[in-house]
Amino acid sequence: MPVPLFDTDTPLADLRPTILERVSEVIRDGRFILGPEVAAFERELAAYVGVDHAIGVGNGTDAITIAARALGIEPGDEVVLPSYTFYATAEAIAAMGAIPVFCDVDRDTRNITVETVRPALTPRTRAIVAVDLFGMPAEIPAIRAAFGLPVIEDAAQALGADLDGVRAGALGDIATFSFYPSKNLGAFGDGGAITTDDAELAQRVRALRFHGSRDKQTFDYVGYNSRLDEIQAAILRVLLPHLDAWCDGRRAGVQAYLDAGIGAHVELGGAPLGATPAWHLYVVTHPDADAKLQRLNDAGVQARAYYRVPLHRQPAMAPYAARGGAALELPVTDELARTGLALPISPVFTRAQADEVVAALAAA
Ligand SMILES: *Cc1c(COP(=O)(O)O)cnc(C)c1O
Repeated sequence: MPVPLFDTDTPLADLRPTILERVSEVIRDGRFILGPEVAAFERELAAYVGVDHAIGVGNGTDAITIAARALGIEPGDEVVLPSYTFYATAEAIAAMGAIPVFCDVDRDTRNITVETVRPALTPRTRAIVAVDLFGMPAEIPAIRAAFGLPVIEDAAQALGADLDGVRAGALGDIATFSFYPSKNLGAFGDGGAITTDDAELAQRVRALRFHGSRDKQTFDYVGYNSRLDEIQAAILRVLLPHLDAWCDGRRAGVQAYLDAGIGAHVELGGAPLGATPAWHLYVVTHPDADAKLQRLNDAGVQARAYYRVPLHRQPAMAPYAARGGAALELPVTDELARTGLALPISPVFTRAQADEVVAALAAA
């Protein structure tokens, strides 16, 4: 049996009638932008994450730009962030004129740490973006304590994860989410959110997502037109109560891989002490990853390479790929980018599927 990389359909099957009902209610009521569904979803998401404020925005990329703007980051300011992440993490910072300064990541957790951030700091550093990559929470409390700089948590892949009982989205000064359809909580289109405990930041975010205005009369900032829409919010409200069970399913899927003996064939990452990952992706490493990938795909296992070319080696990021006149060297990032192998995982991933993937890995 072919094993798909992810399965977003099966978990939704039972919910489709409810979703259609909620969507037709929104259409019947005729309020499509910043109405009761977005307000209710914002309350429910804030409660889920365990923060005071959640604000819906258009997507996870805008969320990062708006979070940085709310923190007062200005053009020319430096923002330290990983190179081993989805492109949007750096793009969102560059798009507002700030300077992405790439740092390396930890080989085990694939995330930035106090040690990897330190060499990237300069007197012009104004913030740090920590990504909870693949759904693994980064050690953000330690990073905040070490440098006294604000940390934007890019939690696009980590809704449902926690670190020492603190949910992803509550670890930084401000956090961002994406509801892109394949994310752990996926809308039926684009969507995003920003979470924070800081009332002042939340107020600025609310203004920035609506053209920089609080009252639709006075425009205090040059802002953005970036809202989560009512239909997406109505859908997300149906899905959110199921997220924990879906994350449990992903964690059971990873346990199935371990029970099936995956550790004999590839190298597994590690987790920070106290972390409960949300496993948006299950990424292992192998020195000959591309050859393995080809064999897996030939065997009907939909594995994939993510971030094979890290951000500091992307053409658009060339202006940010040097340090002190020399090409930026991020050895762990380069190694992980070259050796990473994303294996199938989903909320409904089974032991039988794990056995199949491991058998294909063994044969490859
Ligand atoms: C998906 C993702 C984003 C961007 O989210 P969009 O909703 O697609 O704009 C940003 N950062 C990370 C780490 C992501 O995985």
